[in-house]
Amino acid sequence: GVTMAAATPTAQCEYTLHVDADSRKYPILFSEGVISKPDTFKPFITGDKVLIVTNSTIAPLYLNQVKSAIAATGVSVFDVVLPDGEEYKSLDYVSQIWDVCMEHRLDRKSVLIALGGGVIGDTTGFAASAFVRGVPFVQVPTTLLAIVDSSVGGKTGINHPMGKNMIGAFYQPHAVIVDSNVLKTLDDRQLAAGIAEVIKYGIICDWRFFEWCEQNVERLSSRDPDATQYAMIQSCKYKADIVSQDEKESGLRAILNLGHTFGHAIEASMGYGSWLHGEAVAAGMVMACEMSARLGWISSDVTRRVEAVLARASLPTRPPPSVTLERFMTYMSVDKKVEAGVLRLILLKEPGKAIVTSDFPESILFDTIMHYQQ
Ligand code: NAD
Ligand code: MG
Repeated sequence: GVTMAAATPTAQCEYTLHVDADSRKYPILFSEGVISKPDTFKPFITGDKVLIVTNSTIAPLYLNQVKSAIAATGVSVFDVVLPDGEEYKSLDYVSQIWDVCMEHRLDRKSVLIALGGGVIGDTTGFAASAFVRGVPFVQVPTTLLAIVDSSVGGKTGINHPMGKNMIGAFYQPHAVIVDSNVLKTLDDRQLAAGIAEVIKYGIICDWRFFEWCEQNVERLSSRDPDATQYAMIQSCKYKADIVSQDEKESGLRAILNLGHTFGHAIEASMGYGSWLHGEAVAAGMVMACEMSARLGWISSDVTRRVEAVLARASLPTRPPPSVTLERFMTYMSVDKKVEAGVLRLILLKEPGKAIVTSDFPESILFDTIMHYQQ
């Protein structure tokens, strides 16, 4: 399970959440300004060498402060700055990280630090999982999406030219260090994409948190520090809790993918990058609610509330008309949630309770998609 220090979550205070996955226990630290303090990193540094992996957008903003903080603990610090983009989440760039590890003679005790969004986190984590069969790594997420989703839970990996996230490993970090200051430089669209994943947690596992989002979504969009800190801590708590029950996704963990099957179809059909992942997930979550209401599991009022809160966060709430039923069916059937030819979807059994199921008439799925084609 997950334990939380008893403290009021405000931006000023330090907060630690403990993740208790089967393969490793590790802390998530929340504190403003934490990435420039040597004491932050000290407990997680083993050996005498550290490699920071980041990208060309983040390096000019944050690399120096992280580098100085770590150097002040008395170790040698190296860095590798990758180009910025999902297309660089590939084997070539993992290989580049390994080249730098070899060049500076990193060993089993050396630590890799991922300083960036989900792309850097996934790539660095995968590199760390295999270099000398696994070196410690620390996540320093810099996007809201990476803070509330990708940096916690131990899924690491890269894209194959034929499919997103097809190569990877479950490999938990040794710590996640969250400094909400870094969100100040994140653009509004990326912020909103992260807010979609925050709202997702309310919908799948805690309706009272969804209601908190309804009351506070404008504060999140305007980067109010206290609201943001609270949303980040709650989100990580839900994710950590789910991951600690089902680290390798044999069941429960799949509910984190609410809206993702519809969303992947939108992303793929529009061409990756045209819709951000969080934007596609937002529209996908509305579709999943709509379908759940059509199955009679939730009232259509729930769907309207989900739609309204997402719209207030400037997120899309329906798929683009160009993604036709045929396209949905093509892209949804290649989704990883298809097992033995059966399409499994994450749907709502009740507000705040998602399930993985293939127990629905296909006609309801078609009707749901067709509902958005008018
Ligand atoms: P990203 O890493 O591409 O970052 C988005 C953009 O914001 C990039 O241009 C980046 O350079 C920039 N950026 C990052 N931090 C910034 C900051 N503080 N200030 C200014 N600009 C900043 O995208 P993302 O949304 O963070 O992550 C998406 C990736 O995460 C995808 O590859 C996805 O597959 C993966 N992901 C993984 C998991 C998991 O469990 N491992 C979960 C969800 C998503
Ligand atoms: Mg997601």
